[in-house]
Amino acid sequence: MELIDKDRQGMVLRIERSSIHDGDGFRTVVFLKGCPLRCQWCSTPESQSFEVENTESGSYGTLMTVDEVMRELRKDSLFFFISGGGVTLSGGEMLAQPEFSAALLKNCCREGINTAIETSFFSPWNTVESILQYVNTAYVDLKLFSVDRHRKYCGAGNSLILENLLNTSDCQGNFRLVVRTPIIPAVNDSEEDLRLIGKFCTSLKRLDHIQLLPYHKLGTATYEKLGRPYELSGTPTPTEEHMARCREIVGSCGVKVR
Ligand code: SF4
Repeated sequence: MELIDKDRQGMVLRIERSSIHDGDGFRTVVFLKGCPLRCQWCSTPESQSFEVENTESGSYGTLMTVDEVMRELRKDSLFFFISGGGVTLSGGEMLAQPEFSAALLKNCCREGINTAIETSFFSPWNTVESILQYVNTAYVDLKLFSVDRHRKYCGAGNSLILENLLNTSDCQGNFRLVVRTPIIPAVNDSEEDLRLIGKFCTSLKRLDHIQLLPYHKLGTATYEKLGRPYELSGTPTPTEEHMARCREIVGSCGVKVR
C-alpha cells in the first residue's frame, strides 16, 4: 500500500519507544519540534524552536520524511499489538506542523495503528478538526483558566484553547478527550484555579477524564545547555498529599480525575 504524502518533510525532535505515560499500552512517541507557547515549566525547552539547535553536547532537530518516520514506527508493530499500544504525536506542538502530523496519523490509521496526540490545542479550529478525525485519544493541556495569567506564564492567552475544547463537543470523529493539567505550586494550584478548570471541564461532552500531573524539574539541565534561564527554579515539586487535595477539589466539580 502506497503511503499518503510519503515525501513530506517535518522537523522531528526525537522518537522514543516503549513509553507508558503517553497513552494506552506501549507507545512510540514522535516528538515534533516547534511550539508557539513558552510555558515557564516546559520540560522540553529543546522542542520549542522550529529550527535545528546546536549545543556543545549535540544538536536538537532532524528533518525527516513521512516515509522515514513510518519505517521507524512499523518496527514496534508487535509491541503495539501485544500491549494495546500505538503511536503518540507530541512536541513541541504537533499542531504547528499540521500537514506532516496529518500525514503520519492518516498512515497509522490505514495500517491499523492506534493513534494519540499530546497538544496544547493552540491552533485554529479548522486545523484541530482536520487532525482529530485520525486520532483515537487526544490529550489536551489546560494549564490555567485565567487568560491574563495564561499569557503571563505561557506566553499567550488561552481563548483559542478554551474555544477549541468547547468545539470538540460537536465535532465528528470517535476520539476520546483527556484534559491534562500540570500542578504548578503557586501558579495554578489554588482552590479557585482548580475549581475554574474543573467546572469548565464539566461542559465538555467528549471528556473522558482529567489528569492532574505533578510539576517536576526534568529538563532543567537542558535550559543550561541551551544557555537559557529557568524561571521556576525555586518552585517545589508538589507532595502526594497536595496532589490528593487537588484531585479532590477538581473531582468535586463533577468530573472524573486521574
Ligand atoms: S505547550 Fe508544551 S512544548 Fe510548548 S512550551 Fe508549553 S510545555 Fe513546552
